[in-house]
Amino acid sequence: MPFNRNVYERAIYKEPAPIRDRENPFESMVKRFDVAAQILELDPGFYEYLTTPSRVHITAVPVIMDDGRIKVFEGIRVIHNEVLGPSKGGIRYAPDVTVDEVKALAAWMTWKCAVVGVPFGGGKGGVVCDPSKMSPGELERLTRRYTANLLDVFGPDRDIPAPDMNTNAQIMAWILDTYSMHVRRTENAVVTGKPIILGGSLGRREATGRGVMTVTLAALERLGLRPADCTVAVQGFGNVGSIAAQLLAEQGCKVVAVSDLSGGYYNENGLDINAMIEYASRNKGSLQGYPEAQPISNEELLTLEVDVLAPCAKEDQITRHNAPQVKAKIIVEGANGPTTPAADDILKENGCLVIPDILANAGGVTVSYFEWVQDRQGYFWTLDRVNRRLDRMMRAAFDNVYQAAEKYGVTLRIGAYVLAIDKVATALRLRGIYA
Ligand code: NAD
Repeated sequence: MPFNRNVYERAIYKEPAPIRDRENPFESMVKRFDVAAQILELDPGFYEYLTTPSRVHITAVPVIMDDGRIKVFEGIRVIHNEVLGPSKGGIRYAPDVTVDEVKALAAWMTWKCAVVGVPFGGGKGGVVCDPSKMSPGELERLTRRYTANLLDVFGPDRDIPAPDMNTNAQIMAWILDTYSMHVRRTENAVVTGKPIILGGSLGRREATGRGVMTVTLAALERLGLRPADCTVAVQGFGNVGSIAAQLLAEQGCKVVAVSDLSGGYYNENGLDINAMIEYASRNKGSLQGYPEAQPISNEELLTLEVDVLAPCAKEDQITRHNAPQVKAKIIVEGANGPTTPAADDILKENGCLVIPDILANAGGVTVSYFEWVQDRQGYFWTLDRVNRRLDRMMRAAFDNVYQAAEKYGVTLRIGAYVLAIDKVATALRLRGIYA
């Protein structure tokens, strides 16, 4: 292929980023940070330190596509903070992923790890690509080159990636292999969320949904509600949503509505979640056409008269526009950033208890921590041990956040930020600034 033709093909290969109707995610993070920083009377220097990512890596990732053409993708890895330990955070593959989004997600990881008390800092990565249009071979080459470019960033003592949107255990296996080839030994603690046979942890796949269930039960207890008397609606029926719905149903809650990209499904007598999981697994992961429910829209699901609403799909779902119509007593944020700062104020005004993402979905990073510990010990735990330790840590984190919120008379979200920022700031004060 002549050189100039290559350049031309590359230029037309660039995918236009879809325009999102959404708040700047980094600004959303800083808005919450500001409130907590004021409560803590955070030193202005610490404020600047903790709102600035410690490193932003942007790297060109050239890939030979199946048709022989070269395409160059943008790879991003942000290390927000490493004061409490090596940075930890997922990698997402999406056509519209931006540096700002990755910066916000990396910061959320710092706070999330601090809230649950795992000894990690925050990081996050992304590659601007559309994996639905790529073959497995192209995805493997993309993943390996992205890993090779970031070889000095990743490492079990430095920065530990995990799956996020559109990445999975197979992609983690390719990262593990590429990293291991370069360091000349099998280093399975370099990623988490990998296949069990390569050093993954039992219970990791279900961990985020399980954590959602644990904190929901803790919140119901605080409000004096019995699970058996409660109704639940879950937005999103992927990894987090389906497991959260299944486990809450096992605890006796009546899950009356769930939704996915194909729409919402409602049954006032309670949905059979196991049957829906089975149906989706036979239907390419989609609930499209599920017969035992009444179809509703995603918008209707969010405003149903239920006790618990669990947004477990994506960011910016509860906004200033629909928050006044939300009737749930508890919102448990399985997804990252499903509620905008403007919606927070409305929900607070209406007495809705919001269990924030940095607490509610921290079950995933908690079991990722367990996976890292097991890899480094070379000794693997039973599922029962993983689940018991997860439940204990999530329950303790909920209680700590609840107490912080009560102490300062703020929402659970601000309570969680206060707790997390205080921990990281205390560690920073002890470590000092290296000069
Ligand atoms: P997933 O891809 O497995 O599932 C996402 C689900 O949401 C799918 O069922 C999809 O159809 C549905 N969905 C997408 N857009 C929707 C919309 N507009 N309305 C209704 N449903 C919609 O993803 P996941 O791993 O379950 O992650 C979901 C959220 O949880 C993300 O915000 C992710 O960042 C967050 N999260 C995931 C983990 C984890 O361990 N998987 C950990 C922490 C946070």
